[in-house]
Formats: sequence, C-alpha cells, structure tokens
Amino acid sequence: MIESPVASELLSKINERRVLEFVQRNGPSSRAVMARGSGMSAPTVSKAVASLIRNGLLEETKASKEGFGRPGKLLQLSEQKANVLGVVIDADTCWIGSARLDGTVSEEQSISFRTPKNYDGLLLAVVNGLAEIAGNATIDLSERFRGLGLSVPGLFNSRVGETVMSPNLHLLDGQRLAADLSNEIGLQCIALQESHALCVGERRYGAARGMNDFAMLDVSTGLGLGIVSGGHLLTGNSGMAGELGHITVVPNGLKCGCGNRGCLETVATDTAFAKLISKELGRKVGVQEALAISTVNGSEEVIAQTVDYLAIAVSAVINIFNPATLFLHGQLMNSDPQIFKRVMKQAKKRTLSPSFQDCQILQSQGNKRLGAVAGIIDHLANELAPAYTTIGNGNAEQAS
Ligand SMILES: [Zn+2]
Repeated sequence: MIESPVASELLSKINERRVLEFVQRNGPSSRAVMARGSGMSAPTVSKAVASLIRNGLLEETKASKEGFGRPGKLLQLSEQKANVLGVVIDADTCWIGSARLDGTVSEEQSISFRTPKNYDGLLLAVVNGLAEIAGNATIDLSERFRGLGLSVPGLFNSRVGETVMSPNLHLLDGQRLAADLSNEIGLQCIALQESHALCVGERRYGAARGMNDFAMLDVSTGLGLGIVSGGHLLTGNSGMAGELGHITVVPNGLKCGCGNRGCLETVATDTAFAKLISKELGRKVGVQEALAISTVNGSEEVIAQTVDYLAIAVSAVINIFNPATLFLHGQLMNSDPQIFKRVMKQAKKRTLSPSFQDCQILQSQGNKRLGAVAGIIDHLANELAPAYTTIGNGNAEQAS
C-alpha cells in the first residue's frame, strides 16, 4: 500500500508529540528509555528526537550511566528555547511568570502587581512585566518563549477570543486581551476562562492527573465551575458554560457584579465572606484577615451562612453533573479544615444521596498560574499534532 505524504507527515508529528510528552512527564531520558517506555521502535524515536532538536524543543545533555554497553545521550527540554509564559488576571492582583514546557514555574522569573484601573493600563502593565521577566525591554520574546497562556475571569467567548462580560473586573468587558497582547509582543497568546484554566492545570499537573470525569468549583473572587466529562472540558456553545455563580439564590438579595441581585456568588465566595466580616467590623478586611478575625472572634453567624451557601453550590454541581470527583478551589475552604468539614456535612444533607456517595470531594492542588501555563502547553501540543490516543492504537508507529 502506498502511504500518502500527508498521512506520513501527520504520523511523524504525532510521534514527535509522543516523544516530547514523554520528556515532559519523565524528565531527561535516553532514546532507549523513551523507546521502552513509549512502546515506539528505536528508529521512530530517533527520527522524532532529531526533528525536535532541529526545532529547538529538545537538546542533548551528558551521557547516561544507565544500563550496559555504550552510554546513550540524555535528551532534555531545551533550557533556552522550550519555555512559555503564563499570565493570570484577577480582580485585585495580576501575576506574570515563565515556565518550562514540563510546567515547572520559575519562582525567580515571576512578578505580581495590583490590577490597574483601566484596560490600557492593564495591557501596558502586562507588557512591561513581560519585559522585566525577559530582563530586557528590547529582547525578542519569541527567541526564548514558545507562547503565552492567559487566565481571565468572567464570561469568555472562546469562539472569538473575547471577554464578553467580567462581573468582577468590568475593564475586560468587550476586550480581546490575548489578541491585543499578541500584537504588542509578537508572540502567540491564548486565553482560557479562569475556571476552565483551573481544570486544565489540575488535570495536567495537579490531583486530576489521569481523570476523565471531574468538576472544579472555584469559590475565590467569583464562583465559577469547570466540568471535564468523558475527557472533554464542557465549554458550552461559545465557551461561557459553568456560570453557577450567577444562579439566583436570594431573590432581592445583594447586587451582583453581573447586574442581577442575590446571585450565589454574592453569598458563597471568599470575597463575599470577607465583605460580610468587614460589615460586622465596620472596616474593610481581606479574605486572609477575615479568616483570622473570624477564628479569634468567632463570627459564627457569618460563617454559618457562608457554609450553607457553599453547600448549596456543592450540592448543585453533584446533582446536575454526577462527577466522579469534585475539586474545591478557594482560600476559605483550603485554609480552614473546619469550614471544609462543615460544608461537606451540609452538602451531604442537601445532595441526592446516590449521587453524593458516587462522588469523592477533594481540595484542589493546582491554581490559576498552573492553569495559564497548562493552557498554552496544551495548545502547543495540539498545534504540533493531535493526541495519538485519538488516532487509534499503534497507527502512529507506521510513520517510522
Ligand atoms: Zn450575578
């Protein structure tokens, strides 16, 4: 049978993706180890490695001491060229950092700053921050970085790459931050809605590794939901699915950033909790201070109310989606085990019993920084080639 050049090229790319992902997962490896570990033949691995070296993604290190016979060279991710950038936009604070293609975020090369008051200020602050990380305002970022991933809050239309409305950060409304950044810095930029970014990060680098069915409830500034079902992120028609935070739970309740009243996110988030404690105190406090104060003074009523609404959120997710695992992300529950326990107790009462028993509930291990980084790394992998598992067993091997 004559193999078409297009199919052959595609299979080569799929093999390159397999080799690259092997090194991303396992660290520096010899060609022999890659072949053994991935089930690909030695010539297939060698061909893929050669192409990845040519493209600056892999580089050879010192000789390996493993095994017998002639030592094989180890291949690692290129230190100079196999890097990405991550940017997290939040209502109060933004973060910019660099990471390797294996998802290791560099602590030295990361900065945080207060979120500017308008869109132009935000764009400028991010561009300046990127120049600071690169160490030189005139440097061409594309020489060191493969792309940039953004985590953005609010309703993000992924079909057109536009934040339609961001209830807690309206300066993003109608803006296409990824496209604008790309124009400014000449680097490929992609954006993910923040709850979706949390799912992608948790699945690649956190506690959801290998999971095809889980939910992520994010209760930080807003209240967002991400669902991975059958291995796919549920995004809805245009990427705006998961806005559980804007379900009305208190008719005529507090005004929400979306314009409605009494949305779940006005009563069941870190920010809502801090606001309620601030009201009790008569002065504004942040989430961390509110938590410390509530521990000392025992603002029981506020805690009880927040716990009740958090339980409603947990129960809604489990009843509707029947996830195998539900991850909870947020300072309130992640930093106070007692609050987590109380939410679980209430949620158990409110949720349909068979669904509750079918679901394990865990605290998330990832964060939006990892989500932003994982977003661009996933995008780059998909750009190289489709995941080989979708092609069928063994087919990719034919490219050698
Ligand atoms: Zn709302």
